[in-house]
Formats: sequence, structure tokens, C-alpha cells
Amino acid sequence: MPHVNPRKIAIIGCGFVGSSCAFALMQSGLCNEIVLIDSSYARAQGEALDLNHGMTFAQPITIYAGTYDDIQDAAMVIITAGAAQEPGETRLDLIHKNVGILSSIIPQMDTDNFKGILLIVSNPVDILTHVALQLSGLPAHRVIGSGTVLDSARFKYILGEHLGVDPRNVHARIIGEHGDSEIAVWSSATVSGLPIHDFCELRGHFEHEEAMERIAEDVKNAAYEIIEKKRATYYGIAMAVKRICEAVLRDEKSVLPVSHYQDGSQGITDVVLSMPALVGAEGIECAVPLELSDAEAAALRRSADTLRSIMDSLDV
Ligand code: NAD
Repeated sequence: MPHVNPRKIAIIGCGFVGSSCAFALMQSGLCNEIVLIDSSYARAQGEALDLNHGMTFAQPITIYAGTYDDIQDAAMVIITAGAAQEPGETRLDLIHKNVGILSSIIPQMDTDNFKGILLIVSNPVDILTHVALQLSGLPAHRVIGSGTVLDSARFKYILGEHLGVDPRNVHARIIGEHGDSEIAVWSSATVSGLPIHDFCELRGHFEHEEAMERIAEDVKNAAYEIIEKKRATYYGIAMAVKRICEAVLRDEKSVLPVSHYQDGSQGITDVVLSMPALVGAEGIECAVPLELSDAEAAALRRSADTLRSIMDSLDV
């Protein structure tokens, strides 16, 4: 059995998202080896060459185009392969294409011998994470989706802009589906510990209902807007992926709203969606309970029902 290299990452799918993830990871100093795999070997080779030409401005790292034989000792495998949303297409519209692609990838991974963390990024990410969990036979704590880590970052950024405050001081989360049924958790949102409405008033904003609705819609529609304007989103997700990789490779035990199998928190079972979880070297160490208002809890149940009914309709 191969020895796991705790600083090795494999990326399967080297399009906009996969290559941007490699670019972010290369600069992070987190890894010493990145293997790029794509159904177009030439594509993976081209990305590896391009990235290597930036190496003297970063730090030594081995980046190369590889095959599935090269991933067994990786601490993390990140799947970004798949079709991306066309303008006007929802993430859920991608299901059949991308379930097909994922179903062709997982059997090639030799998951019996893979000891690392599998991170799914391709959309619809919650459904694909659930499919990956079923097909791989890996324990649930080692199969994670990037989930609403990106949506939560968008939420913090937009709130930061609205309030004229550093978004890193905004503590607010998006949970549920990474998609149209996602939930902005306003009830526990704070800026530096101050309840969000109090901070809004400190900054001269008093129309809470109108602002909450607008901001949650802007977060939900952010990807549609970017895709309309430049066909794909990739820098934001690359930074979100790098953040999840940091938590795993450094065993940070950070609380992140990653997508993972739900087995009872908030009364939700047998579905994969995003809720806060403690993330470290073993993947999900534990779920972190989140207090929700009645309306938020009901919206979370609806999001779970949407995802569960899609899973039920798939022939996996
Ligand atoms: P892209 O078309 O630029 O790249 C996809 C890559 O996957 C291509 O290089 C293609 O050759 C490769 N590929 C296809 N089938 C493959 C297979 N069987 N094995 C290996 N490689 C294969 O698309 P993109 O813009 O990089 O988006 C990739 C995925 O990421 C999409 O599903 C998109 O919706 C998703 N995405 C997710 C998030 C998120 O927050 N989770 C954000 C942005 C994009």
C-alpha cells in the first residue's frame, strides 16, 4: 500500500476551475506535489507547463500531468471535471452529464487503496458528493463537497461592501444546497460579535428586511451573473478550495460549511448538503450544531427535500 504524501494533491479536471485551483495551491506553499489529470492529456500537460513556468516566483513544487496511477499516495483528490453551467442553466440542470462523468472517474481511482480525502467541486456539488460517496465506498467523513464555502465567502464580501467593513470581520453563513435553495443564516450573523442588525444601524442602515432580501438574492445569483458576463466562475472557487485544502493538509480543525453526509443534525438525514463541520486531516471530524430560526430550519428542510428527491430519481 502506498505511503500517503501529506503534501500531495491530485486534481481531476483541468479546465477553468481545476487549473485555477492548481494556481492558487501552487502559491499557497501547502503542497510539494500536484498531479493534474484530464480526459485531454494534452490539456493537463499544457496547464502543468504553464504553472511550472511560474515556479521560480513561488516555491519549489512538482507539478505534472499524470494518470490515475499517480493518485494513490495523494492526501487529497479534488474533482473538478465536468461540464460547466451554460448561461441560464441551473446547477441542477447539469446533473445527468456530470453524474455520468463522475461515474466514469470514481472506478478508476482504486478507492480501496486511497487513504486521503476526496473533495468534490463539480456541480451540482451536493448531488455529486453524494454520488461519489455511494460509488467510492469511502467513509462519509472522507468525502466532502466544496458546498457553500464559496457562497458564504460571497455573503461575507457583499455584506462587507454594504456595511463598509472588512469582510473577514463578518461572521455569517450560507447553508443547505450550493444552489437555488440555499439559506442565508441571518439569525446568528454578526460583525465582530455584534448582531448584524445592530452593526447595520451603527453604519446607518435601517431597512433590514429589504437589505436582507436583496443581499441573499445577490449571493444566490452571483454565479449566474458571472457566467452571463464571462461564461465561467473560477477564481472565487479556487480560493475556497485552497481554504478547504489548508484545513485538511494542516489538520486545522477549522469550522467550514462544507457539503457532507447528514445523519441527523437539524433532524436531517440521508442527504448531502452544507452545514458547518470541523474539518481536519481526517476530513469531517464532527458536525458543528447551528442554531436556526424556525424559518431558516424550515428552509433547510425544503433544501434537503429538493436534494433528496433528485437523488431518489437518479439511477446510481
Ligand atoms: P471546464 O469545461 O473549463 O473544465 C472541465 C474539464 O473537465 C475539461 O478540461 C474537461 O476536459 C475535463 N473533463 C471532462 N470529462 C472528464 C473526465 N471524464 N475525466 C477527466 N477530465 C474530464 O469547466 P470549469 O469551468 O472548469 O467547471 C468545472 C466544474 O466545476 C463544473 O461542473 C462547474 O459547474 C463546477 N464549478 C463548481 C463551483 C462550486 O462552487 N462548486 C464553482 C465553479 C464551477
